[in-house]
Amino acid sequence: MPQIANQISNSKFFVLGGGSNIILPEIFNGVVIHNQLLGIDLVSDTDDYVLVSANAGENWDSFVLYTINNGMCGLENLSLIPGTVGASPIQNIGAYGVEVKDFIESVEVFDIKSKQTKIISKYECSFSYRNSMFKTHPNLIVTKVTFRLLKTPKLNARYGDLVHKLSEISNPTPLDLRNAVIEIRSNKLPDPKIIANVGSFFHNPVVDIATANSLKDKYSNLAVFAVDDTHSKVSAGWMIDNLGLKGYRLGNMGVYDKQALVLVNHGAATKTEVLEFARVIQDRVWQEYGVVINIEPIII
Ligand SMILES: Cc1cc2nc3c(=O)[nH]c(=O)nc-3n(C[C@H](O)[C@H](O)[C@H](O)COP(=O)(O)OP(=O)(O)OC[C@H]3O[C@@H](n4cnc5c(N)ncnc54)[C@H](O)[C@@H]3O)c2cc1C
Repeated sequence: MPQIANQISNSKFFVLGGGSNIILPEIFNGVVIHNQLLGIDLVSDTDDYVLVSANAGENWDSFVLYTINNGMCGLENLSLIPGTVGASPIQNIGAYGVEVKDFIESVEVFDIKSKQTKIISKYECSFSYRNSMFKTHPNLIVTKVTFRLLKTPKLNARYGDLVHKLSEISNPTPLDLRNAVIEIRSNKLPDPKIIANVGSFFHNPVVDIATANSLKDKYSNLAVFAVDDTHSKVSAGWMIDNLGLKGYRLGNMGVYDKQALVLVNHGAATKTEVLEFARVIQDRVWQEYGVVINIEPIII
């Protein structure tokens, strides 16, 4: 690592994990660090929990399966999210009512500026909805993540489709929950190996309660989730879908026909085309609902 730091200290650079959440330019004039650090270690094991570390280049979903197969619980709702372990804290990945921050103990980073390895506790990561302090500290390269996982399963199956799927099984296990998540996701989300996409393209916007209430008065089916006493999160996917944009296509770009929050690249759309298409969707949402929806993936 220190050798890399010397080479890139004066260049533009970015860290590439699995490439599932980035929008790349046609040419990048700089250094790309492709993280391929592998290995999983059991750090400690008590009656209640296990501390387990995974190096940043491990495939996320393989790691989730490894934990379940070894009696460690908590990550099952995050099954089948593409990408690497090292990227998981960057945007605090989340799905089906669980965020990875709930299970991260600490993150090991290599700091390109100071050329030192540091351990960052979960409290210093400033995790929030699809966000962390890593997004504003590109000098920190994640090398390892340590997770605190439960020994006794505490399944989180509050999400609509999951409730339904698991109700068909008596005494569901974390593996059952994982299989249910995989089935739901496979039916709803495009496989990036087959059709280019970055998953959800927009954040669900967080608005004040008054705005949420007036939207709900006008659109009774709008999905709204409480964030705190004064703010609510509204479903960007619902708003796009309600505009009749599911399956809408413009040139190489389109809105996925099974999930309106996902934009798909049907051909060889460039970064400019992707962002122009995103702007069309953002404008339509703004005109109809008066709400700004921000882009989720990282634009390089
Ligand atoms: C079909 C599909 C479904 C998805 N579903 C979800 C979902 O349910 N929930 C969710 O939260 N996300 C989802 N995503 C987004 C994506 O899977 C996650 O953001 C994932 O964590 C990205 O991992 P990656 O290794 O591919 O990262 P990349 O796309 O390679 O990188 C993403 C960002 O992280 C940085 N980065 C990567 N590795 C490191 C590192 N080691 N150190 C420092 N910075 C690093 C990169 O520089 C970049 O800024 C989905 C994407 C797709 C394509």
